[in-house]
Amino acid sequence: MQTITLAVHGGAGTILKEDMTPELEQAYYDGLNEALNAGYAVLEEGGSAVNAIKAAIVILEDNVLFNAGRGSVFTKKGLQEMDAAVMDGSTLNAGAVTGVRNVRNPIELAMEVMRNSNHVFLSGKGATDFAIKQGIKLEPDEYFFSQFRYDQWKAIRDSDTYSLDHTHQQLEELMKDKKFGTVGAVACDGDGNIAAATSTGGMTNKKYGRIGDSPVIGCGTYANNNTCAISCTGHGEMFIRSVAAYDVSCLMQYKGLSLQEAMNTVVNEKLMSIGGEGGMIGVDANGNAAMVFNSAGMYRAGRSSNGWNELSIYK
Ligand code: ASP
Repeated sequence: MQTITLAVHGGAGTILKEDMTPELEQAYYDGLNEALNAGYAVLEEGGSAVNAIKAAIVILEDNVLFNAGRGSVFTKKGLQEMDAAVMDGSTLNAGAVTGVRNVRNPIELAMEVMRNSNHVFLSGKGATDFAIKQGIKLEPDEYFFSQFRYDQWKAIRDSDTYSLDHTHQQLEELMKDKKFGTVGAVACDGDGNIAAATSTGGMTNKKYGRIGDSPVIGCGTYANNNTCAISCTGHGEMFIRSVAAYDVSCLMQYKGLSLQEAMNTVVNEKLMSIGGEGGMIGVDANGNAAMVFNSAGMYRAGRSSNGWNELSIYK
């Protein structure tokens, strides 16, 4: 019988137990569990991998704890600009959006691009125009405000005015000390079809229209029934330079590596060699799953009809 599997992540990074209160830790577990339950229910009812990951991601986007949708970080200009992508491994169809504002669930917009446009990747104002045309739910700026994200941004926003080098250092510090809260999901459904999706607010204080790996097909998100479905989180620039998600697929297709071996190679060797902190979750069409990261932690959860169950934060 075909194994059904769902895995979700809520970002990787310097996530340390000593920085966490028991209440906050529980809130993260609850958020991950809620997303996992929603997505897994879709699979149990015979739904598709694509619909399962959408159900899971919407829950994470609505949860202010995660850097996606409602909880998105602030840009240099004090705005939220969100990225999302989805890929269907059974058809190699994909949809992605970048720099979208006021869209309640960017994953729904990415789905809409995949299903109802002739395109793969839409950006900024044009993507929002498409959202309005398709009847995707929008929210006012206040919906996306959270004090925690605001304080995070304020802490580095001011120092930035001094010099470019300093800016760079500040961002490096931020990336070292804080976590990446991007969300992602991968699934294998009862027909053996797999899919991946990722959604993010990007990086705090990002500017110049910076785009990370999350919405870039092949970098932060990729799915192909012949190999794997992958969703990444971490320092996006390195994941783009590594073409990380597609590289896992290539190692499986051309070198015959297993999902776990391929993900280990990309995360612990290739990304590490260029200082790429982060991780990824993956499934293959047999319902095998893997969760690999080179950072101190990664918010993650997974469940499979073969008995696999995981809900973890730290290494
Ligand atoms: N990969 C995301 C980006 O670079 C950040 C994250 O994973 O939280 O935009």
